[in-house]
Amino acid sequence: MKRITLLGSTGSIGTQTLDIIRDNKNDFSLVCLTCGSRVEVLAEQIREFKPQLAVTGYEEGAKKLSDILSSEGMDVEITFGEEGLKKAASFHSDLVVNALMGMRGLVPTLEAINSGHDIALANKETLVSGGHLVMAAAKEKGINIIPIDSEHSAIFQSLEGARRACVGDEGKGRKDVRKIILTASGGPFRGWTLEELEKVTPEMALKHPNWTMGQKITIDSATMMNKGLEIIEAKWLFDLDIDQIQVVVHPQSILHSAVEFSDGAILGQMGTPDMKVPISIAMAYPDRLKLSGESLDLFGKGSSLTFEKPDPQVFKCLNLAVEASKRGGNYPAVMNGANEVLVDLFLKKEIGFTDIQNIIEKVMDDYSESGSCDLEAVLLADRWARERACVYANEMKGGKNQC
Ligand code: NAD
Ligand code: MG
Repeated sequence: MKRITLLGSTGSIGTQTLDIIRDNKNDFSLVCLTCGSRVEVLAEQIREFKPQLAVTGYEEGAKKLSDILSSEGMDVEITFGEEGLKKAASFHSDLVVNALMGMRGLVPTLEAINSGHDIALANKETLVSGGHLVMAAAKEKGINIIPIDSEHSAIFQSLEGARRACVGDEGKGRKDVRKIILTASGGPFRGWTLEELEKVTPEMALKHPNWTMGQKITIDSATMMNKGLEIIEAKWLFDLDIDQIQVVVHPQSILHSAVEFSDGAILGQMGTPDMKVPISIAMAYPDRLKLSGESLDLFGKGSSLTFEKPDPQVFKCLNLAVEASKRGGNYPAVMNGANEVLVDLFLKKEIGFTDIQNIIEKVMDDYSESGSCDLEAVLLADRWARERACVYANEMKGGKNQC
């Protein structure tokens, strides 16, 4: 029986993680869960899974949750905020599933590692901003970080299939890897021109062709920043050089990514798009669970798989991510921080779709490296980038944005 702490239980990955726990009660128990502000949903999850600790994003939420649960006679420890997330991450468990959205997942990830807990990681922004800190801490403490992101799970499975080392295992055998083929659906605007992209609205961008996900990652998929973040995520998880990662647009989302070895053999993982597969693999590792998802019909959806080059002139975020990674230091944290705030402003219709990539580029150009990459410096670079991105967004709207 694995005791699970679930950070971000009310989100897209969080609720799918709960589905897996519900269907596999003999394998998993839930000891702790956390949410941002959806307190009613959290209360319902607490009634069903009876954890020992519940954490909300804000104090008012914790108060409301406490009122709801005490009126029902339920006894659960409740806390809130950043300290609450740290408490959750260090709470006695066997596996921390990090399904938080954004860079707020970094500190709890480090806390979980320092408490000796293995991590099933969906929260890619953590690795983009602080991959150097996370991987160094995981190595020092002997912690497994098992990816939930579908592409990284496919790479993980391919490396495992080739009997390569587990994630966090010091890049053992990586000399046998020629490159990683990181697949991308291309999002809803594949093949569009820059002029066409300028007219994209949040409603248009929130319709992903193959996956149903949280709002932020759905917008990231439309700008292709998601793939930019994933390049950096892969670099850290698998101890690779950024130039060993090739992005390939594969609109069907059937091949979830692959590894090309030094002898030219390519091992990949295929299947119908279903996040429960990579989530369950990370949760049950080294075992596999039985899932009831759809089999891939090779004569149907699997009958024509196509692969294209991405267009980095239109989707600039791909090159921005490579550039950020090559510049090193806190540039990835700066890129990520600016992106988080700009996606939020785009969703609020404060800026246009292409402003996201244009402003990130400007913010990265303005940044001068601090020379330090410790946690404090990463958090500072993140804050600086958010403020700088807001300044540009405000300038565009004559100072009328709500940053
Ligand atoms: P989501 O927005 O649906 O869920 C985010 C979770 O974080 C929610 O539970 C929310 O309550 C919680 N949260 C928000 N603000 C908070 C705060 N201030 N304090 C504490 N908790 C807070 O996001 P998602 O789509 O589930 O994505 C989660 C992560 O997984 C992201 O990093 C994303 O890139 C990654 N990911 C998601 C998918 C997917 O299919 N959704 C696939 C691959 C990777
Ligand atoms: Mg992905």
